[in-house]
Amino acid sequence: MSDQNQYLKSSKLIAAHYGEEYEHYYNAIVPPVFMNSLNVFETLDDYYDFDRRDKHKYCYGRVQNPTVRILEDKIGALEHGVGALAYASGMAAATAAVLTVCKTGSHVICIHNAYGPLKSFLNGYAKEHMNITVTYVEGDRLEEFEESMTERTDLIILESPSSLVFSLQDIRGVSELAKKAGAKVYIDNTYCTPIYQQPLDLGADIVMHTTSKYIGGHSDLIGGMLAVKDKELFHKLLENRELFGGIVGPMEAWLMIRGLRTMEVRIAQHQKTAMAVAEFLDKHPRVRKVNYPGLPSHPQYELMKRQQQGNTGLLSFEIDGSTEDAAKVAERLNIFKIGVSWGGFESLVFLPHARTGEEECKKLRGSQNIIRIHCGLEGTEDLIADLEAALAY
Ligand SMILES: *Cc1c(COP(=O)(O)O)cnc(C)c1O
Repeated sequence: MSDQNQYLKSSKLIAAHYGEEYEHYYNAIVPPVFMNSLNVFETLDDYYDFDRRDKHKYCYGRVQNPTVRILEDKIGALEHGVGALAYASGMAAATAAVLTVCKTGSHVICIHNAYGPLKSFLNGYAKEHMNITVTYVEGDRLEEFEESMTERTDLIILESPSSLVFSLQDIRGVSELAKKAGAKVYIDNTYCTPIYQQPLDLGADIVMHTTSKYIGGHSDLIGGMLAVKDKELFHKLLENRELFGGIVGPMEAWLMIRGLRTMEVRIAQHQKTAMAVAEFLDKHPRVRKVNYPGLPSHPQYELMKRQQQGNTGLLSFEIDGSTEDAAKVAERLNIFKIGVSWGGFESLVFLPHARTGEEECKKLRGSQNIIRIHCGLEGTEDLIADLEAALAY
């Protein structure tokens, strides 16, 4: 087998070659999709003595699959962790993390701007069935985390930057507090990808990715990922994944491996376009506020510089006008299509708060008329022209 460590030098080499064992598949430069549900053994002893922790041993597709394993090795290496696990969706990964770290009666600290369905899971299922309590925080002051900590705090949930108003949390600071209190830090790193932020290096314990976004990158799959730095936690998650049954399918894993090959160049372009779009919007007389961490006017720009190496294609803005005006802007756009999700090749627009009450909007720090856009790969000039036309009312 080739020396895998030589590829760990750079994210580009990891995406291209790490985790792949060409000699096992006739030296094909692209690994096959292992569409098998099981693997067979020579003897019964081979089966019973088989170690599930050996990543080169396979028995059943709900436990592990060779194509999935290549993907996991790459993400684990990109996140500087001991390993990573792939799930059937971002939410499958997120709930697996909560259910593995928390127990009945656990207390969780979570930012207000965390992914909505994850908060629904905490407020609903986790509360009803596990008596889990949650304290929500704004997330930009360390004191808030410190003040919210209790004897029972087992988990702190971050998303930095958050994917609507792009507020940041001090990952290193929160992780130091958590460590003292014996709590684990979970962070959704979907926005930055492991190319622009490595939270495990800053002290976080669990990094989550929705691979449906930039890692897939082509809006053709749903998947999720957890990367961790602690071996024991990794094996607990691995055991639970077998029991919960949430492993990703091999075809999706294969598409993610393909997505990873070009992710670094894709997100560099997403960033370039988003930066130009943010600057255009920032100067536009109809625009009241632009939320993009790449803009030096972002209130946490210094923190961004400290913990990120870049930003990607998602941003939001508020117009001087009503929610109806904002809806019209979204509907007048041509290249930007109305839709949730982001991270693919295409430009998207959405009004995430159009049906949210004022009280809740305030907590989430975005007004009802906030417009979120994903800047795709259709070309900066055409995207700006599209926005210019839609804002000319
Ligand atoms: C889309 C998204 C998720 C959920 O991922 P799924 O793959 O749809 O389950 C979680 N977090 C963020 C920030 C997202 O944008």
